[in-house]
Amino acid sequence: MRPFQYTRPASVANALVSIAQPGSKYLGGGTNLVDLMRMGTESPAVLVDVHRLPLATIEEHAGGVRIGAMVRNSDAAEHPLVRERYPVVSQALLSGASAQLRNMATMGGNLMQRTRCEYFYDPTFQECNKRHPGSGCAAIPGYNRMHAILGASPQCIAVHPSDLCVALAAVEAVVQVRGPRGSRSIPFADFHRLPGATPAIDTNLRPGELITAIDLPPMPWPRRSHYLKIRDRHSYAFALVSVAAVLDLDSAGAIRNARLAMGGVAHKPWRVPAAEQLLVGSKPGDEVFRAAANELVRGARPHRYNGFKVELARRAVVRALSSAAALV
Ligand code: SF4
Repeated sequence: MRPFQYTRPASVANALVSIAQPGSKYLGGGTNLVDLMRMGTESPAVLVDVHRLPLATIEEHAGGVRIGAMVRNSDAAEHPLVRERYPVVSQALLSGASAQLRNMATMGGNLMQRTRCEYFYDPTFQECNKRHPGSGCAAIPGYNRMHAILGASPQCIAVHPSDLCVALAAVEAVVQVRGPRGSRSIPFADFHRLPGATPAIDTNLRPGELITAIDLPPMPWPRRSHYLKIRDRHSYAFALVSVAAVLDLDSAGAIRNARLAMGGVAHKPWRVPAAEQLLVGSKPGDEVFRAAANELVRGARPHRYNGFKVELARRAVVRALSSAAALV
C-alpha cells in the first residue's frame, strides 16, 4: 500500500474543503476502498474519513424514510422503519456480505462500491479500461462467468456488486448529495452509469460531492416484497443474479403496481419499467411473470462463460414474483 495522508473532518463543510486536495478520496466504512488500496488498484494521496460525520440517523421524511449516509448497513437492515415499510431493502441488506462487513459498511459507501471484476481488482493484469482507460478489457476474451449480460459495452462488461442498490432501484430511492456547488437530489436510476465509452466512471457524482442521505419515498404497498439472491454459496458471495420484486394487489387479486430490479447482470441495477407495466392488471401467475422476465432480459448479450445467466435471470424473476405474490 502506498503512503497516504489521513484526515477526519468534523463537519460536512470541512469534508468538502478536505476533498478539494489533489488525489483525495472519501473513506466510509472502508470495506471496499481499503481492499482496493491493499491490492494497489486505488492509491489515494489523501483519505478523508467521513464515517463519523453526523449523518447516521434514520427518520421519517416527507411521507417516507430518510437514511443518513453513515448509517451502518446492519443498523439500517434492523431498523423498524426500514423493516416494516421497505422490507425488500432490509432483505437485500441482510443478504449482502457477512455480518462483520455489514457492521462496518455504511449506506452511502455501499452505493460507491466499485464494480466487481477480477481483472480490475488485480493490477498485474495490464488490460482494464476501468483502471487504465484505453488499455483494453481482459474480461471479454477471459473468464467472464460473473460478468454482465445487459447494458455492457465493448469497453467493459463488469457488474455492480451491491444487493442494497438493487432494492433501492426497485423502491425508486433518491440520493441526497452535497458538493462544492451546493446540495442536489439524484434519482436512483440516474446515480450509477452504464460503462459506455467511459467505464472508469461508475457514478454521476460530480467532483467532491458527498452522499449525505438516501431517501426512500412513500410506498404504501410494501408487504408483498421479496429479494432473491442466487449465488454460488449461501453467504459472503456476490450474486450471480438477484431480483428485487414488490407487488401491490387490488381487492380482486389483480396486480395494481409492480416494481422489479435485477442485480448481477449489468454495470448498474437493471430496471425496465415496461416489464413492470406488463404485470399491471393481470392476476399473479407463471405466464405473466415469465412475460415480465422475458422483457427484463430483452437484448441480453452473454459472453463465453456466462450464457447460463440469461435463463437463470428469467427463472429468478419468476420465483421472486411468485414469492412476493404468495405473501399475505
Ligand atoms: Fe476492466 Fe471492466 Fe474489462 Fe473488468 S470488465 S477488465 S473492469 S474493463
